[in-house]
Amino acid sequence: MTGKLLASKKETGLQIEEIEVPGYEKILKVTEAKSKLKALIAIHNTVLGPALGGIRIFPYASLDLALEDVLRLARGMTYKSAVAEVGFGGGKSVIMADPQKDKTEALLCAFGRAVECLKGKYICAEDVGCSVKDVGVIRKETKYVVGLAHEKSSGNPAPFTAWGTFRGIQSALKKVFGSDSLEGKTVALQGVGSVGEVLAELLFWHGARVTIADINQAKVAELQHKFGFKAVAVEQIFQEECDVFAPCAMGGIINDKTLPHLKCRIVAGCANNQLLKPENGEALKARRILYVPDFVINAGGLINVAHETEKRGYHPQSARNKTNQIYDVLTSIYEIAEKKQISTSRAALELGDYRLKYGVGKRSVEPYFHH
Ligand code: NAD
Repeated sequence: MTGKLLASKKETGLQIEEIEVPGYEKILKVTEAKSKLKALIAIHNTVLGPALGGIRIFPYASLDLALEDVLRLARGMTYKSAVAEVGFGGGKSVIMADPQKDKTEALLCAFGRAVECLKGKYICAEDVGCSVKDVGVIRKETKYVVGLAHEKSSGNPAPFTAWGTFRGIQSALKKVFGSDSLEGKTVALQGVGSVGEVLAELLFWHGARVTIADINQAKVAELQHKFGFKAVAVEQIFQEECDVFAPCAMGGIINDKTLPHLKCRIVAGCANNQLLKPENGEALKARRILYVPDFVINAGGLINVAHETEKRGYHPQSARNKTNQIYDVLTSIYEIAEKKQISTSRAALELGDYRLKYGVGKRSVEPYFHH
């Protein structure tokens, strides 16, 4: 990987290099010797508004792997924001560090100074390995942060992501069975973490029969006891005979190996990047399994945090109302897919491309930071 040295700023102590990648607006490699910071910030597209995306802290084995991840994630955010119409663009950042051992205040502050250098073109938030407390530290150096713990912030995004996923499952049921009722429907849920647990509870109260799997056996046992869910081994869950398979753990679960074993009518869950490769979306279509595109169904958390940047302040009800619309957006995507005889994953991307091309949902006022 080669990049051009953009700046080595004395006042910030950072060394910043720009890496040119076709199709991306700006990629920065940021290092600081003192704090051992090694990070990448990727801005994919800001046509509709400043790039918004989380900070992933992970001990990547190489810079190339970190770059691959940040590029994929930043692009995903562009489409998620465009389809959710939140007036943001797509960006993401990764810090190459072990969140258990290397996450010092100096490291987070150095990263904050890098975000500040971009003057609001990139707005950061928590993500895997980066907590609300950590973004609070980053805030010491930059105001371009959302999801902080204060009375005007939006709080934990997981319940909103779960609610949006629930609405997405309802939209898919309507499409496949003619009714969006969960009553008696079978759902195989992979991963009962922050989002999956809330989703499982929603499904329970709406009458679904839920099967769960998670590597966290204590959580599985707790939910089995609380709701009487059936539990299966983690390698079994995607093979369960069910109406809906809901991936709520890691990405890439829909791949050439798992696809032949799916026994569901619908794939609809909150996990990011569920398809290992785009062709897997086509394969689902060929198998007549309705795939609910991940970046559309899991936008509830983004919608929630985006509401925090409104001048009038965050209001959970308006975030909820906008999250509800995931149902209608998905219904349009199924229609486009059917009309054009394309997969739903392709239809969702085409909808995103259309909005980017014509500036649909483009931000008209600057985001407001209440902190
Ligand atoms: P989490 O870490 O709280 O939960 C993930 C759960 O999956 C954990 O309980 C973990 O033990 C389990 N898990 C990991 N590997 C597994 C496996 N092989 N089989 C079964 N279970 C496994 O994460 P989360 O915040 O609930 O997010 C879940 C997914 O949704 C992730 O892909 C995340 O990127 C995506 N997502 C989350 C949000 C959000 O608001 N938190 C928003 C959008 C997308």
